[in-house]
Amino acid sequence: MKIVLLGPPGAGKGTQAKRIEKALNVVQLSTGDMLRAAVAAGTDVGKRAKAVMEAGKLVSDDILIAMIEARIAEPDCKNGFILDGFPRTVAQAQALDAMLKGKGTKLDSVIELAVDDAALVARISGRYSCGACGAVYHDQTKPSKAEGVCDACGSTKIVRRPDDKADTVAARLKAYHDQTAPIIPYYREQGVLKTVDGMADMDQVTKALGKILGREVPAV
Ligand code: ADP
Ligand code: ADP
Ligand code: ZN
Repeated sequence: MKIVLLGPPGAGKGTQAKRIEKALNVVQLSTGDMLRAAVAAGTDVGKRAKAVMEAGKLVSDDILIAMIEARIAEPDCKNGFILDGFPRTVAQAQALDAMLKGKGTKLDSVIELAVDDAALVARISGRYSCGACGAVYHDQTKPSKAEGVCDACGSTKIVRRPDDKADTVAARLKAYHDQTAPIIPYYREQGVLKTVDGMADMDQVTKALGKILGREVPAV
């Protein structure tokens, strides 16, 4: 199955993608995570992306399209994937369609998580994650059971993203509304778009996604 999860920063894409990854045996492809890994490794892409990400702007389409094209050609994507954070522009969406068409396939589902801007700021400022396994937590809505310890893997490597600061969040929301939101009508016209109320409780969102995907997705 090939799925795109769409939504503004903080909508819950990463949280839900992790659950779907396990339940459907597809791989989560987070372009944000790939870019952060490139920055940490100091690759050419990382060097080009670092300042752009810190400013809350979008990294160029050519970098992202090449990155995803290479990634989905890898063997672990054979069973399908869930894209989290890509596409983020109409040009990326068109390139993805062309890429899949070239392989004789297409997207099965594009799901938008709809969340109000006001809620996003609170979600992003309380977000932290496990540096070892990527599990996502929140100071108020989803704290780890033991403080500073990941529920999923037991690691004590807790990370907070440098771009999860209030001033950068405003720039990221602007980039979403200006550059990413136009892909919603693009997919709606293709008849593949479904919208889920992302303001609902995390487990309710998971249930709604499972219904769309025709599969039970455990809330873990
Ligand atoms: P969020 O969790 O807020 O949705 P991500 O982790 O997906 O954020 O992305 C973090 C940053 O990485 C973005 O603000 C942007 O600078 C860059 N980025 C990630 N994916 C893309 C993309 N598809 N196109 C352009 N830039 C991207
Ligand atoms: P995205 O990948 O779209 O940026 P995340 O999955 O990282 O979003 O979620 C952002 C923050 O909001 C995290 O701290 C997460 O624990 C929290 N969160 C996710 N979904 C919900 C929800 N439905 N209700 C409340 N908080 C949520
Ligand atoms: Zn962990």
